[in-house]
Amino acid sequence: MKERYALTLNISRYDPATRKSWVQEYRIEAGRILRFTDVFRKINKELDPTFAWNSSCEHAQCGSCSVVINGKPMLACELLVENSVEQFKTETFTIGPITVAPVLRDLIVDLEKAYDRVHSIQPFIIKPSKNPHQGEEYRISPRVMEKYLEATRCVNCFCCATACISSQKGFIGPNAVLASLVRIMDPREDATEERLKLLYSGEGVYRCHTSMACSSVCPKKIDVAHFIGMVKEGLFS
Ligand code: SF4
Ligand code: SF4
Repeated sequence: MKERYALTLNISRYDPATRKSWVQEYRIEAGRILRFTDVFRKINKELDPTFAWNSSCEHAQCGSCSVVINGKPMLACELLVENSVEQFKTETFTIGPITVAPVLRDLIVDLEKAYDRVHSIQPFIIKPSKNPHQGEEYRISPRVMEKYLEATRCVNCFCCATACISSQKGFIGPNAVLASLVRIMDPREDATEERLKLLYSGEGVYRCHTSMACSSVCPKKIDVAHFIGMVKEGLFS
């Protein structure tokens, strides 16, 4: 394993002032344990301060640094240089923005627009159910929680929605379905029927053709397609 790599990054650029799009090549040396967000920062410092990208927590918890690297949607903050070379067997990378929302600049997309899909399913309790232990906090048993705990790990990075070809064709998208299913399986929520109306509508789960692309790219290792299958089959309890 090398200590440093000579990377070639072909990055999609977009200037909203001129509406010009182009691919820019950056050649840069990077240490093996730098993450791609570190490499982006290095480009800004050493080569080009105008290159724009997005990140916040840089600990794979906020989902804001998603990009498409050599065709695969992933979190830039999670990808180490040495792992990228091993995974893609190259030191040359093509990097573009995720594809579920309009590009604002370079790798930055309008996440507000992407979130419209998640907001459409109302990812909060719409109709609170009766607490069996009145006057106490609503406790969910570990046995019940276990059934959907994995789905609650979603950070809305939209990697699954970018990988899903149906997302470009009227489907609300895998992470929106997941968010609704979490509420359906939450015993504190009583709005199953309302939720299913949208999930079984023309923009709902039957747009999914079970390619499993969503599960294979999810950085939180959620088997998204399995949960979508549960909705299709009506297996909520
Ligand atoms: S299900 Fe996974 S890939 Fe999809 S938005 Fe959530 S964390 Fe990202
Ligand atoms: S399994 Fe369904 S939701 Fe997942 S990527 Fe394929 S079509 Fe999209």
